[in-house]
Amino acid sequence: MEKSTANIKIVNSTKLMFFAIIGIISLITIFFLYLGYMHHKFALDLIIKEEKNVASKIYYNTLKSTVKKYESEVRYILTKDDILDAFQKHDRDKLLELTLPIYKKLTTENPYIKIMHFHTTDTKSFLRLHKPDKYGDNLSSIRYMINRVNKTKKKTIAMEAGRYGIYYRLAFPVFNKKNEHLGVFELGININYILDTFNRNYDFKSIVLLKKDIFDIVYENNKNIIYNSYSNDYYSIKSDVKHTCKCNKDANICYCTTAPICNCDKNQKCNCFNTTIEENKNTILKNDNDSNIIFTINTIKDISNQEIGKILFIKNLNFYTDTIDMIKKISILSVSILLILSIYFMRKIFANYINIIDSYQSKLEIKNRTLLKLVNTDYLTKVYNRKSIETTLIKEIKRAKRYNNELAVILFDIDNFKNINDTYGHNIGDKVLKNIAKVVSMTIRETDIFGRWGGEEFIVISPQTSLKNAILVAEKIRKSIYTYNFDNIDKVSCSIGVARFKSGTTHESIIHEADIALYQAKHSGKNKVLDFDKLK
Ligand code: GH3
Ligand code: MG
Ligand code: MG
Repeated sequence: MEKSTANIKIVNSTKLMFFAIIGIISLITIFFLYLGYMHHKFALDLIIKEEKNVASKIYYNTLKSTVKKYESEVRYILTKDDILDAFQKHDRDKLLELTLPIYKKLTTENPYIKIMHFHTTDTKSFLRLHKPDKYGDNLSSIRYMINRVNKTKKKTIAMEAGRYGIYYRLAFPVFNKKNEHLGVFELGININYILDTFNRNYDFKSIVLLKKDIFDIVYENNKNIIYNSYSNDYYSIKSDVKHTCKCNKDANICYCTTAPICNCDKNQKCNCFNTTIEENKNTILKNDNDSNIIFTINTIKDISNQEIGKILFIKNLNFYTDTIDMIKKISILSVSILLILSIYFMRKIFANYINIIDSYQSKLEIKNRTLLKLVNTDYLTKVYNRKSIETTLIKEIKRAKRYNNELAVILFDIDNFKNINDTYGHNIGDKVLKNIAKVVSMTIRETDIFGRWGGEEFIVISPQTSLKNAILVAEKIRKSIYTYNFDNIDKVSCSIGVARFKSGTTHESIIHEADIALYQAKHSGKNKVLDFDKLK
């Protein structure tokens, strides 16, 4: 009983420890998963920031290289004497005849070039190569950029919105050989050229968004354009340059007819999204195959610093999101394996621990029992010692009182034992004592409690036994000792006193009465049984 209580305590505390450790491991795991999540967010922010940086740099470099490429073309045109001459003489037909082949060559080579325009010094349209029939209109109130070149006589290169959208315009003052100012020559390249160059050469897709007021002007003049609205303030126009609606494997770009944002997915399929953008906010678009980040970097401003549009960038994030997905899967798998393994090993360790404790406890209990036996046992005869008999007698008297049971005590002393010692020696005396204990143990009932009271005096406690029966038991004891064959020793006898439990009996009084009866038995001839009650 004691063992199981102690074991339950150990098992419970071990279980508690087990769950506490598993709990701690789980908390640590959750903490690391959270760290991973935060790291992913942080890394994504960093990547977006970096991509914005890269996009911005590439955008400005593309602008620079565009200027470099077409500035030389413009300078070449403006060094041609016949062209300068025709312009100076205001010979429109001649100028058209001379410049149209150049215009055609340029626009064939680059369909994004649309505007080629000669302006007079008072900012009137002199010749539009893109619309030769329309000329002579005064642009001074609407073409700030041309006004400025006329005024400063210095080239100006800037984005400017017009009737056909946003154009990157190279406006150069025109001088004749005598260095007389003739007007302004303007070459306008659709901004989509910049973005197309960008898209073709870099791992981005970019789209121009026109501010609403700019878009309205463009729409007024070109009702048949295909456009998309991104928000209430921004619109995109599908370029009039023809594209194949296919993915370009090398450039990772594609063009779709209607959807505002499209990109090549990893299966080289053109993937289009319908979405709106929020200003100053990065949007991540995800579908089954693809994940893209959308961001705007540059506000397009004209020469008077007015916003005319924005450039929207779409960057494919498949590599990053695939890596993150893989890391996520690996993390979850490894964390699960770690948890399962730790639970498995912890269980094993704790089971071993409980087994060890169990076996220690069993050994301890065996030792305790042995010790208890030793404490209660007479060293010589191996029957109960006096201390143990006293404790038992107190208990039995209490029981007899409570249940109104009978109880008898049989006290006996070996007759003339001193003679045995004297005659055969102390060792033989010891042997006799041992044999007497053996003989008596075999004679009495299992329920009787037998012990050594002192020297050569023994005691039997007989619970639930009447005096009559106790006398019979005592008689049996006496006879068994008397008839026992102790090697080389003549008869060994004992005198016995018997006392019974009565009301008011204590353990001391019952012993005392048995002792008186024993004393009487000695004095009336020994080798006999007397009961205390009969003495009266
Ligand atoms: P009586 O018939 O009156 O009892 O005579 P008796 O000689 O038995 O009584 P007494 O009390 O004079 O002697 C008891 C002896 O028992 C004395 C003692 O040396 C001996 N004795 C007591 N304990 C032991 C023991 O453990 N071993 C041996 N060998 N002798 C013991
Ligand atoms: Mg004696
Ligand atoms: Mg004695």
